[in-house]
Amino acid sequence: MGYDGKNYPGTKPSTPFHYSNVEGINAEDLILTSEGLPEKQIERALQQILAYESRQKTNFLGYQANQQFDFKPDLSEYLKYHVNNIGDPFQSGNFTVNSKFVERAVLDYFASLWHARWPYEKDSTFSADWRESYWGYVLSMGSSEGNLYGLWNARDYLQGKTLVVDEAVKERKIKASEDGMKLSATPRYKILKPKVHKNNENAYTPICFYSLDTHYSIIKNMRILEIATFFEEASNKEYKCPLNYPDDYPSNYSQQYIADNKWPTEVPSDDNGILFIPALIKLVKFFAEKGYPILLNLNFGTTFKGAYDDVEKIISAIIPILKKNELYERKVEYAPGKFDTRNGFWIHVDGALGAAYAPFLKKRGINIPNFDFSLPDVHSLTMSGHKWIGAPWPCGIFMSKVKYQLLPVDNPAYIGASDTTFSGSRNGLSALILWDFIARNSVEKLVSRISTDLKKAKKFVNDLERLKAQIGIDIWIEHSANSLTVRFKQANPDIVFKYSLSGEDLYVNGQSRNYSHIYIMPSVTDKMLKRLLDDLSKPGAFPEQDVTRDIVTGHGLGFK
Ligand SMILES: *Cc1c(COP(=O)(O)O)cnc(C)c1O
Repeated sequence: MGYDGKNYPGTKPSTPFHYSNVEGINAEDLILTSEGLPEKQIERALQQILAYESRQKTNFLGYQANQQFDFKPDLSEYLKYHVNNIGDPFQSGNFTVNSKFVERAVLDYFASLWHARWPYEKDSTFSADWRESYWGYVLSMGSSEGNLYGLWNARDYLQGKTLVVDEAVKERKIKASEDGMKLSATPRYKILKPKVHKNNENAYTPICFYSLDTHYSIIKNMRILEIATFFEEASNKEYKCPLNYPDDYPSNYSQQYIADNKWPTEVPSDDNGILFIPALIKLVKFFAEKGYPILLNLNFGTTFKGAYDDVEKIISAIIPILKKNELYERKVEYAPGKFDTRNGFWIHVDGALGAAYAPFLKKRGINIPNFDFSLPDVHSLTMSGHKWIGAPWPCGIFMSKVKYQLLPVDNPAYIGASDTTFSGSRNGLSALILWDFIARNSVEKLVSRISTDLKKAKKFVNDLERLKAQIGIDIWIEHSANSLTVRFKQANPDIVFKYSLSGEDLYVNGQSRNYSHIYIMPSVTDKMLKRLLDDLSKPGAFPEQDVTRDIVTGHGLGFK
């Protein structure tokens, strides 16, 4: 069905129409053909799409994406423009239909909020220690891009790489042009890498550490960037694990997360999703003593449990280890006779969710760990703009410091690279959306906004407890401290779809469990929560689960 009598611009369909049905959408109305579609059909289809999105938004509870924006209608005017912030935010460039001037204001605000030194300084015009100032940009993707960019920078920095203009290419181009060919005069960069010394063959092999509760983008980025995790390096080198089960693990830690070679695949985290510091210390010490530079990803608001790693405590715990093993600061000889003094470690904070509101929660007096540039050893930080803040499309912020860019120390002017961001073209409207949000919300308003969210989360926990007593089954209610998420036994598929509930499989005491969770975003109303509670109180809301089933992790490390 659906394919007959239609004209296609190229190949014909090879199988019957078989994509899954979506409630309220007639997929046949959407099939595109070589003639385009009649106006009536386009309108019908667009109405269906709008009705679908609007209905699903009404009950949207399962993800940390705010669906409520206060944009005034005048912002939609900008959809008539292609605003592109291609290249570095601090270099205006010739693509003048950009909003980099807005982007810079947004970045300055977040730099200030996150205790970084601002404004950005590109050279020593204003101060001798200009390298202490922040550098960052507004992402075209969300924190997945911020994580990728941060880890990429971290990898190259720890590998001792330095970016310089390749003068040889310039000379060759000038010579070649004398033979008649016109050649691009854009400078080519080359990467200088230090030689590995015999007394430490691991000096430029960064090893990454991240907790079990880490977002999958970090795991994916490890593969893209070919950064070894401690587990991979230990497995390849057949190292003996310094952790013993169960003494060195958090209580309730399932052995299922420990590989046959006795190494955990990720740094253990506790029941609440918080990185377990005693285990991290032992793991970092083991690799630091072997001379490996340490790349640490910490989470501020984990994806499923909304947990905050204690960034400050972790840093204080590992600094003595780094100092003892000459990894706190070290000299990198990136070219013969040319040295750069760098850290032998990098702390990246994945604050996709939490970095947006934690400063306001703190102003409210809520006790959550420090996580930002108030800690001098934090190297990079990322946040998603479409999560707690809310935006019509994915966006976010990456922030680091000038001193961690791969500029040569001896001649910074040498570089002038404008292609400093991950993508080339960048969405210039994202900066505008973030600017508009901040412009319309005082800190006081945001403090009150996050307090309301947190109160709602706590109230929902109580409501669920009441429900549990009423229906008489254990529905595994859990809520990590000061998080915006509440998790419970997975509801039936109809409820999952209706409320867009995301799920996760966890091992608990050796048994597998399916959880659902909700996220209290500013768009979540009391009415929505009441509807969900009503549905959860109906018979069959919590189907029985097979607790002996194998969980296949999505981490793709090739073992489960
Ligand atoms: C959502 C999330 C990400 C990825 O962010 P996107 O905006 O979806 O790219 C990364 N880390 C954590 C902890 C997240 O919750």
